[in-house]
Amino acid sequence: MNELQIPQELLPSDGRFGSGPSKIRTAQIDALASAGTTLLGTSHRQKPVRDLVASIQSGIRELFNLPEDYEVVLGNGGASAFWDIICASLIIQRAAVGSYGSFSGKLAASIAAAPFLDNPVVYEAPYGSMALPQSTPGADVYAWAHNETSTGVMAPVVRAQVQADHIAQAPNPQDQHIYNPLTIIDATSAAGGLPVDITQADVYYFSPQKAFGSEGGLWVAICSPQAIERAHYVEKLAAQPESGRWVPPFLSLTKAITNSRKNQTLNTPSISTLLLMHEQIQWILAQGGLTWATERCAHNAQLLYTWAEQHQYLTPFVEHNAWRSNVVVTIDVDPSLDADDIIACLRKYGIVDIAGYRALGRNQLRIAVFPSVEPEDVQRLIQCVNVVIDYLIQH
Ligand SMILES: *Cc1c(COP(=O)(O)O)cnc(C)c1O
Repeated sequence: MNELQIPQELLPSDGRFGSGPSKIRTAQIDALASAGTTLLGTSHRQKPVRDLVASIQSGIRELFNLPEDYEVVLGNGGASAFWDIICASLIIQRAAVGSYGSFSGKLAASIAAAPFLDNPVVYEAPYGSMALPQSTPGADVYAWAHNETSTGVMAPVVRAQVQADHIAQAPNPQDQHIYNPLTIIDATSAAGGLPVDITQADVYYFSPQKAFGSEGGLWVAICSPQAIERAHYVEKLAAQPESGRWVPPFLSLTKAITNSRKNQTLNTPSISTLLLMHEQIQWILAQGGLTWATERCAHNAQLLYTWAEQHQYLTPFVEHNAWRSNVVVTIDVDPSLDADDIIACLRKYGIVDIAGYRALGRNQLRIAVFPSVEPEDVQRLIQCVNVVIDYLIQH
């Protein structure tokens, strides 16, 4: 039996196509090494690290073209921690959420588990499809994911049209404006790779181990002034014993805001994560900013979808064209082949992390094309998969 041979010249220059952790460019790692002795191992309360944080904040401000009164807030714990911050610090009573995959589903589960909140009103769609929250009586937060990483579905970021009589009544009329619903978007795998009009969101939050090619453990939340005012209001509510609420300090958005205004985090951050992220923001800005990054992702994704559509053994998982993600591409494999075999063959050649999301349980490839991924490497990946499939069919 012939052994599988993928010719060296077909291999991508970098085989990391994971959806997070994702590829970290060599230039980022070099920057980390050279900043090593001046920043790593030094206090995050002192000027050098605070300057680094300030530069990340202003870089994000530029990248997303933020209105003057939006703020870049950050803290530890990643997007998963931010789900609980939403529960503790942003929802007054009830949220309406879109749920169409593992990640958007987890926010709904966090809200449902919070004893002081109403059960969320969940607008659900099957995996591979999408549902946005609709106008909902009493909902003071509307939340969904810009990119559902588990299924490769991207959703629009456009404020929900809320009926006037669906807006909750404030106990004190002078607080009524605070009950205007907030739009809160999980942009963990979208930020930096998909276009967005940030004025359509009150909170656009993400972690840096996806499009920003850094490491996990941090969350970043772009916050509108309404979101900031809401966090202060909820903190006040929670201070009243009869509210039955508790804002654990680690989940306090107001504490994070206070620290972020001083270019700090509540507790010790990973400085290497900050350095890698900083390098990536500067790189994207130098290449042409968010327009450049989103066009590159769209181009790479299109290469993959076009290939899958034409391939006898492959089909794009997401049927609706407009919902096919430009950053996480999911491709179903014909049942006559086992995607795990394809994945195992490629791993031997250094092409890694292209398995479908486990909980989905499909015979699937999932390929991330965040801004760091070279178009040429996507073309090479396609050729490598073709070689492996041809080999598997014959054996
Ligand atoms: C990766 C991911 C998360 C979880 O991020 P962590 O930083 O690991 O907590 C949440 N939401 C989406 C859409 C993601 O892709």
